Amino acid sequence: MQYDVIIVGGGAAGLMCARVAGLRGRRVLVIEHANRVGKKILMSGGGRCNFTNLDVSARHYLSANPHFCKSALARYQPADFIALVERHGIAYHEKELGQLFCADSSKQIVRLLLDECAAAGVRIEVGCGIERVERGDPGFRLASTTLGALRCDSLVVASGGLSIPSLGASGYGYQLARQFGHTVLPTRAGLVPLTLSGTPLEDFAELAGVALPVEARVKATAFRNRLLFTHRGLSGPAILQISSYWNLRDALRVDWLPGLDAFDYLGEQQRLHPNAELRTALAGVLPARLAQRLCERWLTSRPLKQFSARQLKDMAARLHDWPIVASGTEGYRTAEVTLGGVDTRELSSATMESRKIAGLYFIGEVVDMSGWLGGYNFQWAWASGHAAGLSA
Ligand SMILES: Cc1cc2nc3c(=O)[nH]c(=O)nc-3n(C[C@H](O)[C@H](O)[C@H](O)COP(=O)(O)OP(=O)(O)OC[C@H]3O[C@@H](n4cnc5c(N)ncnc54)[C@H](O)[C@@H]3O)c2cc1C
Repeated sequence: MQYDVIIVGGGAAGLMCARVAGLRGRRVLVIEHANRVGKKILMSGGGRCNFTNLDVSARHYLSANPHFCKSALARYQPADFIALVERHGIAYHEKELGQLFCADSSKQIVRLLLDECAAAGVRIEVGCGIERVERGDPGFRLASTTLGALRCDSLVVASGGLSIPSLGASGYGYQLARQFGHTVLPTRAGLVPLTLSGTPLEDFAELAGVALPVEARVKATAFRNRLLFTHRGLSGPAILQISSYWNLRDALRVDWLPGLDAFDYLGEQQRLHPNAELRTALAGVLPARLAQRLCERWLTSRPLKQFSARQLKDMAARLHDWPIVASGTEGYRTAEVTLGGVDTRELSSATMESRKIAGLYFIGEVVDMSGWLGGYNFQWAWASGHAAGLSA
């Protein structure tokens, strides 16, 4: 039961690392505690896996150490994974904003990784837990639930973050990091719907199901994309993206009419249809139910000719900068990523190896490196897994 490399976690990062280390001739074992590998890959991208993005750089990631990802991302690029996808005959397409999805099913990405691992001679053990890990001098000694005692030279922690516990997420990677003296930066849910409560929830709850393009802003960060009203609050890509930048008590601002000059639009409507009601004019550029609701709760709907230029200007300014008080997030239950994690300042950016313990590696989401929505998190998993696979 001696391996060169043992990888804890058979997700995106762990399987990529296993493949690369296996191709180098290392004897590799992947230990996965769930009953199958790659459950998040299967769920991802609505079942079609947004496996990478055509435009990937450090600016698409959040971390206390934002430069850390550059080296790994430069050495394993989207084109490298795309080449792998093409070699396996998987059809794909760009949906929007450089996001690449499988044309058929995310099962194909899991199949790709399993076939690659098989070709590289990797052993994968599912349904196997780890009871204990100790330093082996050299290497590491593990006690596992189904394989018993194991030894390895390199131990790669690829057990992911805390998001979606029902898909196998556990805090085990953080526990191992702490056991070996690593700092774990505070974690919280990212890429997650925001919740409303009290008056803000009453204001918008009856709009559940309505979606529209907006610009969502927190401080200096803004995302233009769709917002979706839900029964509990706000979701949709614009909200998921901004949620990673939002902290309790931060002001969330929404531009309901991004790319349109609302003052020009309302002035033009006033000239063309002076007797039209404000809500009718707004329904020309917003979903009718939202236009109606904004007028019921905040703006008085009356014929456009009754508004002064000053009033139209104020209203336009408000429509472009609407404050919404969010009460929280839906948490790890629905979050796509975990922000925070193993502090990158204690890892090598070239290899992902611990600077404290030789032979110990951390890759993927367990590390304090979280991407935007749009294939960036898988690209980080592939790139960090590749970097460790070349070294472990
Ligand atoms: C619903 C959903 C959709 C997503 N869609 C996308 C998308 O389209 N594009 C994108 O880029 N990102 C997407 N993401 C994010 C992406 O899935 C993750 O960032 C990525 O899977 C992280 O890879 P990982 O290998 O680090 O962790 P994971 O993929 O989470 O893998 C970790 C593995 O470790 C196992 N494990 C945990 N604890 C233990 C333990 N103690 N012992 C053994 N095994 C253990 C887990 O069961 C799991 O299999 C999505 C996330 C979710 C939740």
